[in-house]
Amino acid sequence: MSLSVRQRRILADMGIPVWRSRIALEDKTEAAAPPTESVPVVGERAEVVDAGAPDAAVDTLDWETLEARVRGCHACAELARERTQTVFGVGDPRARWLFVGEAPGAEEDRRGEPFVGRAGQLLDNMLRALGLDRSRDVFIANVLKCRPPGNRDPNPQESAACRGFLDRQIELIQPEVIVALGRVAAHALLATDEPLGRLRGTEQRYQGVPLVVTYHPAYLLRKPGDKARAWQDLQRARTCLSKPLTD
Ligand code: URA
Repeated sequence: MSLSVRQRRILADMGIPVWRSRIALEDKTEAAAPPTESVPVVGERAEVVDAGAPDAAVDTLDWETLEARVRGCHACAELARERTQTVFGVGDPRARWLFVGEAPGAEEDRRGEPFVGRAGQLLDNMLRALGLDRSRDVFIANVLKCRPPGNRDPNPQESAACRGFLDRQIELIQPEVIVALGRVAAHALLATDEPLGRLRGTEQRYQGVPLVVTYHPAYLLRKPGDKARAWQDLQRARTCLSKPLTD
């Protein structure tokens, strides 16, 4: 069966691998090619990446395949139905710093990038104060890759369903420090329900990586008086780097 590029992209986005004859791939004349060994089409266009064999475990996927798997995820029916798009994350996938937030909001859902609303501008300012740029020096991800409708908190089933994606991102990035932005991220990563105030300032690790808990930027917009405490948290995070950056 001959598929258009658009059809192939939709299938790839749904996590369904598309197979073509090797000869067809070499000749670019699919119709003329006899049936032969099949190979998956990977990256036919820049944004078309095979989501991997459907039964391939998430913890075996490479970065591009993981991203495609997230894009095609329908594990949470309501989120998949309501989202404009998934929000995988932004930044350098080999960054030393990983910031983890809660879930995309309305603006993030529209733009496909985490922390692009007012809270995101504050986060960018905090990064700048550390001498960091969101596109170069850090990776920013969320516990959930889809927006919960009405900006409600992620529920435990959704966090659990999305967990493998975040875990695989962390494994692939291998950050030197993780900053959990707010209660939802801290609770999800540390599997605790301790109040944020008790987690801040304590030494934590996630999969062996130092983890610093701080306030969510949206909270800081409401309570600017706590920005100084958030700054202390970020300074502490900086000391976790194997070779601290100079100012
Ligand atoms: N809040 C989050 O936790 N994540 C975003 O991406 C945006 C707002």
